[in-house]
Formats: sequence, C-alpha cells, structure tokens
Amino acid sequence: MVNRIQIYKGDITRIVADAIVNAANSSLLGGGGVDGAIHRAAGPGLLEECRALNGCKTGDARLTGGYNLKARHVIHTVGPVYRGGNSGEADLLKSCYLVSLRIAAENRLKVIAFPAISTGIYGYPKEPAAHIAVSTTVEFLKEHNFPEKVIFAVFSEEDEQIYLKTTKTVLSED
Ligand code: ADP
Repeated sequence: MVNRIQIYKGDITRIVADAIVNAANSSLLGGGGVDGAIHRAAGPGLLEECRALNGCKTGDARLTGGYNLKARHVIHTVGPVYRGGNSGEADLLKSCYLVSLRIAAENRLKVIAFPAISTGIYGYPKEPAAHIAVSTTVEFLKEHNFPEKVIFAVFSEEDEQIYLKTTKTVLSED
C-alpha cells in the first residue's frame, strides 16, 4: 500500500499524471485557488468543455480532458464549504474522494493527483480533511487495482507535515 501513495509538495498543475483532481465549485466555471491555477495552465479549451457539463453537485465529480496540462485528464470535484461540521461536510468530503477514485477506476487511470479539497477558500480544517482524504483513498486502493497510484499534492510545508503524519497513522491502523 505504501508504494501506491505519494506526497508531492508543489503546484499540482506541474504533475505528470493520468488525471489531476480539481477542487472546483458547483458552476465548474473556474474560481480562485487551485481551480484558477488549473484553468490557467489548461487553457480555454477546459472552460469550454466545463461549460457543457452544466455544473456539478457538492460531493460529486466530472471527468474532462487536460488540454495544455501535463495531465491527460482533469477530474473536477466540488468540496463542501465548511459550516462548523454539522452540515454533512465530512460525508460530502469523503464522497469527493470516493467518486473521483471511482471515475479513475472506471477509466483505468493509473496515476491521479489530489489537492487538499475544501481546505482553502472553503475552510475545512486541515487535519480532519487530510484524514478523510488518506483513509478513503487507502480503503479504496485495497479493493481496486486502478488507480495504481495516488499522489497527494500539498501546497505548503504545514500541509506536507499533516499529510506525512496522517499517512503514517492511517497505514499503521491497517
Ligand atoms: P477549496 O475552495 O476547495 O477550499 P482552494 O483552491 O481554495 O479550494 O484550496 C484547496 C487546497 O489547494 C489548499 O490547500 C490550497 O493551498 C491548495 N492549492 C492552491 N493552489 C494550488 C496549486 N496550484 N497546487 C496544489 N495545491 C494548491
């Protein structure tokens, strides 16, 4: 299991993968943070394809091409806005990872990269969000051959430490 999970510190748009996951909003028409970075790096073709999708519900995901990105595809998922934790945020965040992983499995994508969904503008506390990301992924990988590898793209030293610690904890729980 440990060799199917990797932590990468830096810009997710630089990653060579079969798909990178976008922390999108429900319009799928671009926004700030990682969403803005992905659309800028992918170019206008991505926005055009996204327009035709007519949005996406929170906790769900959609697959598009990667256009000018190094990744062949983008999986756009809509994380929950954190409203204190009693509005189903944990289930919705888990669903983002699960549906994205299912899309990867269905399309036999070998390598996919996730950002820390909902932990930026959407305000989800970083540590519980990382636990959901890693535990949902590990559970899924145990039962599926695809994706072969999942990269967690972290954007700060703090996030890197959180993911290193969380990965260790989750893998030792097995
Ligand atoms: P959300 O609206 O889901 O909270 P954000 O884009 O605001 O999404 O933040 C999600 C995470 O992505 C945050 O941890 C943020 O630091 C990180 N992030 C922002 N830009 C990038 C990038 N280019 N590559 C990887 N991670 C990024």
